Amino acid sequence: MKRDVTQYTEKWDFVVIGGGASGLGTALDATSRGFKTLLLESHDFAKGTSSRSTKLVHGGVRYLGQGDVFLVREALRERGLLAQNAAHLCKNQDFVIPNYEWWGGYYYKFGLTLYDMLSGKLSLGKTKLLNKEETLKCLPTSRAEDLHSGVVYKDGQFDDSRLAVNLAQTIEEQGGSVLNYAKVIGLLKDENNKVIGVKVEDQITKETFEVKAKVVVNATGVFTNDILNMNNPKHGKFVVPSQGIHLVLDKSFLPSDSALMIPKTSDGRVLFAVPWHDKVVVGTTDVLVEEPEFEPAPLQQEVDFILQTACNYLTKKPTRKDVLSVFAGLRPLAAPKEEGKSTKEVSRSHKVIVSETGLITITGGKWTTYRQMAEDTVDKAIKKHQLEAKPCKTHHLSIHGNIPAEQVDRNSHLYIYGADIPKITALQNENPKYAEKLHPNYEYTVAEVVWACREEMALNVEDVLARRVRLLFLDARAAIECTEKVAQVMAEELQKDANWIAEQVEVFTKLAKGYILE
Ligand SMILES: Cc1cc2nc3c(=O)[nH]c(=O)nc-3n(C[C@H](O)[C@H](O)[C@H](O)COP(=O)(O)OP(=O)(O)OC[C@H]3O[C@@H](n4cnc5c(N)ncnc54)[C@H](O)[C@@H]3O)c2cc1C
Repeated sequence: MKRDVTQYTEKWDFVVIGGGASGLGTALDATSRGFKTLLLESHDFAKGTSSRSTKLVHGGVRYLGQGDVFLVREALRERGLLAQNAAHLCKNQDFVIPNYEWWGGYYYKFGLTLYDMLSGKLSLGKTKLLNKEETLKCLPTSRAEDLHSGVVYKDGQFDDSRLAVNLAQTIEEQGGSVLNYAKVIGLLKDENNKVIGVKVEDQITKETFEVKAKVVVNATGVFTNDILNMNNPKHGKFVVPSQGIHLVLDKSFLPSDSALMIPKTSDGRVLFAVPWHDKVVVGTTDVLVEEPEFEPAPLQQEVDFILQTACNYLTKKPTRKDVLSVFAGLRPLAAPKEEGKSTKEVSRSHKVIVSETGLITITGGKWTTYRQMAEDTVDKAIKKHQLEAKPCKTHHLSIHGNIPAEQVDRNSHLYIYGADIPKITALQNENPKYAEKLHPNYEYTVAEVVWACREEMALNVEDVLARRVRLLFLDARAAIECTEKVAQVMAEELQKDANWIAEQVEVFTKLAKGYILE
């Protein structure tokens, strides 16, 4: 996959703006139906919210509590399809709810049995009631005092930005094109004010170029307003961002394969502590912020809330210095129509909006439902733009790297590469330098950096350490410690000089410090 911007200036059926879950899904749907499709991402794939999720492939237990059965059923179906289409990245995860009220066991067993039933043939397994001893066996560090019982249910877990990268590869394999570091800076319109393409600025060379398309899709998450305002300068705010953060802790805080789920914390939200790549991810919060940012900063109050809530349920109490990494993500909420009116979450169910100019905007939803969101978006675009009605093909479309679930060996850290594992081990065998570790405490090797440059469109150290190898999200200090080594390997692969290495070290170290709690 070589970068050559000139090849993108032809006319496309679909141009999709945004390389997160929504945009990648839409581009894959369109290209697999046979439409000539180009995806443009201003930074790296999944640079936005799509690398900053709780990593759950789930129906959303809390929406069931709110009676939103349709939404839950749709997400549970999608959970099942993703487990088949990207088995190397999704796993069946036990979640345990510890009950500190006598009625909790029966209440949650009933609700979660309904949750299972809604997944039908794609169920991951039955909900079970646990006694106190069984609960403590599953969650050895959970508070035993006042514990009555537990309920264990099944849901899915995945690696979000790895899925994004694999989706980008699948789009190319299906005949489409994807380009990261290509920012849309304007919309092209005809004399009837219809959108006929986009103006793009290459973020590497700063060159600009124009791209024509029958359909332009805006899939820019919390940046939706920017494109809508290019479409109509009087548009104003359509979405406002709400921030959620996660803390990553050592596995000793929850030394178990089961995840902890607290259905109702003191602020009414769900709290998860989920094992992920041999660490534990704890989150999340929900706080309105003024403006969307590409590197949102965690707020002090959010960090305190999560640590405090975790301390209420765990016997090993985490403190600030135990946090290996902290990351923040932004979800779009519908902006109030009038100043001072309250906001309403649009992220629960997705919305496809068709502007008078023909621009199609997809917003809301969640990672779990990205495929259905994409199908709805392309269906609507076909109707609006009177394109040939080709049927959706993604229900059973295998995503790059997919292998049968029983062949996924999670004892090796390489499991996330699925079908590509033999090619990465071949690199390690071909050159002893490629078998070297990036950091003494972690199994990641130089071969993975080489692979990320050659096959996964990584263009800088952040692309590798944040979204190909997840070290920034797992242990930000360790990520800083291997920055120079990663930059040197990349410089060799991408033919960059010593100045580039020095700049990369400086830029990445500054960014990674934002993932550390001082
Ligand atoms: C805290 C939190 C936890 C979550 N946990 C889960 C979970 O466990 N499971 C789940 O299913 N869902 C979860 N979600 C929801 C899920 O992460 C989001 O729904 C999904 O990632 C949104 O994807 P998106 O593509 O719409 O937006 P984004 O991922 O933000 O993608 C938008 C992209 O557009 C690009 N862009 C912006 N402007 C331009 C431009 N001018 N030109 C080109 N590109 C541009 C950005 O760089 C960005 O990459 C969570 C969300 C949050 C906030």
